[in-house]
Amino acid sequence: MDVEPMQSRGIKYSVMFVFIYIQIKSRQLHGAAFAVAWTLSFTFTFKLCKTRTSFYFAKPFHRVFRFPFVGQLDARLTSDTFGSFSSSFVIRARKTRKRVADTVHLPLPVQRNWTPSAMEQTGGLFVSWRQPERIPRPSPPPPGTLRDTEVPYFFRERYVRAGYRPLHQPWRYYFLSAFRRHNETVNIWTHSLALLVLLGEAGRAAQRADPRRDRHAWPLLLLILSALNYTAWSVAAHLLGSESEATHYALFFLDYVGVAQYQYGSAAAHYYYAAEEGYARHLGGVFLPVAAALSCLSCLGCCYGKYRNHSLPPWVRKVGQVVPSALAYAWDIGPVAHGLASGRADAAAAYHLAHMAFFLACAVFFAFPVLERRWPGDCDFLGQGHQLFHVLLSCCTVCQIRASLLDYGGRRQVYARLHRGDEAALSVALYGVTLLVCLLIAAFMLKKARDLLDAQAKSK
Ligand SMILES: [Zn+2]
Repeated sequence: MDVEPMQSRGIKYSVMFVFIYIQIKSRQLHGAAFAVAWTLSFTFTFKLCKTRTSFYFAKPFHRVFRFPFVGQLDARLTSDTFGSFSSSFVIRARKTRKRVADTVHLPLPVQRNWTPSAMEQTGGLFVSWRQPERIPRPSPPPPGTLRDTEVPYFFRERYVRAGYRPLHQPWRYYFLSAFRRHNETVNIWTHSLALLVLLGEAGRAAQRADPRRDRHAWPLLLLILSALNYTAWSVAAHLLGSESEATHYALFFLDYVGVAQYQYGSAAAHYYYAAEEGYARHLGGVFLPVAAALSCLSCLGCCYGKYRNHSLPPWVRKVGQVVPSALAYAWDIGPVAHGLASGRADAAAAYHLAHMAFFLACAVFFAFPVLERRWPGDCDFLGQGHQLFHVLLSCCTVCQIRASLLDYGGRRQVYARLHRGDEAALSVALYGVTLLVCLLIAAFMLKKARDLLDAQAKSK
């Protein structure tokens, strides 16, 4: 059987008119015969006109009559005309591609001779039977999640038994995994929603403070930028960190850089807006440099803990993260704690108390996996301490921004008198230095981690 392609436009239009004639005459038929003749003729007429209407018009009739000629097409191509028509019939790819792929087996001469398909002409929305090898196959379902024993030791979380995403999947898999159920889904969404809330807080702050005109607003800007920064890196780390060990290291090291920046931004805002006169007089010269150094130490502790987590138990990482961070927090909260201890009772004081309470609570859930230890395996999706840590830390950050915004508006006389010099500029400069040092720490630890991974790969 050899089917010649019908190239001539004239022939096409001639056949189109024949089918229009059939349509007219078929009105004299009755019942199913009329419906079939009418459907076929209209379908092919519109196809010859190369309009998508052909598909939409024929679709309901496909459902009703199931187009018996469709499945048997390859066996019944007895005439050139019918072969050309049916081969150029267009169907919608997405909904019917599987059925067509299963049923249509066009002979090789037909495939070879036919012209480029309508798929190319319509931008891929339609699939032509002319090139059945180009029919898009249904993509395989994404791989399921794994148990803790099926992933490398490095990725396992304490008391989380299942829900681990497999490594070395395409990036698309990890991006789309935000909408699937696994043991990082809630971590991703808690900080994604927090990011939106913080953007709202940043918008509110932008209405009240203008850092371009008022340098007293710079510490507030540092606090908000660093809060947005750490939240965004946290989302990236939880979303993509399962791709490979190298990616996991890189993203979590950047997450720790963000956390260190947030610690310094908090210290700058606390000191600038909340410090009482006595506190600023005693510690004014050293507060910001010490806060910058402690945030760098915190970054180093977090990165080193993560790095050593490869070979040591998880509690080592916690110690590396918690001890320097606790030191940094104890220093950074000093101006606020001193003010509250001195009897401060304005509107911002309530927010300060709230963010301190939220921070202490989130530190507990960060250091101790209370719920998953009590019910191991039952908190794989929801209820992990880290999820609570995210929520409480986000609440802490929101309260902190609101407190600083209130202080910025309500304590202007105090901080304008205390920080007459260039302490706002100093806070920004130290932020830049801290960022640079933290990035260098992260790069150094990433290199060590890569060397470790290379050495492990070679030893296998
Ligand atoms: Zn996290």
